[in-house]
Amino acid sequence: MSFFSWLANGLGTLLGVVADAVTTVVDSVRRAYDAYVGRGGAVQQAVADESRSKKERLREVNDEIMHLRNRSMSRGELADHERRRWQQLREERDELLGALQQAKEVKAAEKILDSESVLEKVEVDLETSHVLQYNAFADTLGKTCQCGRPMKLQWRRELNVAGPRDFYWGCTGWYVQTGRGKACTRTEPLQRSDYGLMTDTSAPEFSVTAEEFGVILEDPGTTNIIATRVNDLRSDLAARRQGVELATCPVHGEHMVLRKKSNSSGLLDAYFLACPHWQPNNEQGCPFIEKLKSGSQLAALLKSETGRGIL
Ligand SMILES: [Zn+2]
Ligand SMILES: [Zn+2]
Repeated sequence: MSFFSWLANGLGTLLGVVADAVTTVVDSVRRAYDAYVGRGGAVQQAVADESRSKKERLREVNDEIMHLRNRSMSRGELADHERRRWQQLREERDELLGALQQAKEVKAAEKILDSESVLEKVEVDLETSHVLQYNAFADTLGKTCQCGRPMKLQWRRELNVAGPRDFYWGCTGWYVQTGRGKACTRTEPLQRSDYGLMTDTSAPEFSVTAEEFGVILEDPGTTNIIATRVNDLRSDLAARRQGVELATCPVHGEHMVLRKKSNSSGLLDAYFLACPHWQPNNEQGCPFIEKLKSGSQLAALLKSETGRGIL
């Protein structure tokens, strides 16, 4: 079930909120949430605990699928029992992904209900496009392609500060390799309503315009502080062998790992997120990576993982 008649993400932002007042939207989320609790649905710590064990199982399932896939690629074929096992594992993974998706919705609903007093509507335009980029980066809940896979908000990656028209929906089947190439390459333009967000606007990054935000990030003092914080986060996550809370691989459902390039030309070229099954220079790994090429992404990452953005 879904709590939302709108698209949502793990940061507790809703997309497509144009006509409704914030209180109307929050009331509707609260009603759905209360009904879910009334039916005995797991919330708060209980849903977090359930998710943890499902994620552990998901990692095992993915590892075994990767193992079978590599065996099939090196041998050219699999035995019947291996093919059946592969199919079973895929079905189990779909079930786990569905359950984890539900848990993300619960968490997003809780975030919305907790932050009601600072929620505001943002109509995305030239001045506020960084707010959309900030949110585009997190897993989107509720947008599905014709092929049944989730779609992800994308933007033209060569731009540090993308304008409102540079965003589009891309099917996550793009990252699924099949014998005949990418599983799905569908893209869709944003609907007018997609530009209406309801989000926690207390983040200082949102009090400046997209352009001003871009200028702030050119200051060497600021970029040094941000780089230090991202490096600290990376060591901390690596020590705990953890991925980032903000984003998961659309294929494997596991939390993305924060990585640093060995030779980079500056802050906006230094970091990327990769699926735990990604392997450098190896086609057999998962191809899903997310380059961290904008201040909005770094702000969303730091805010989500450490509680404080970059301004
Ligand atoms: Zn698709
Ligand atoms: Zn992956």
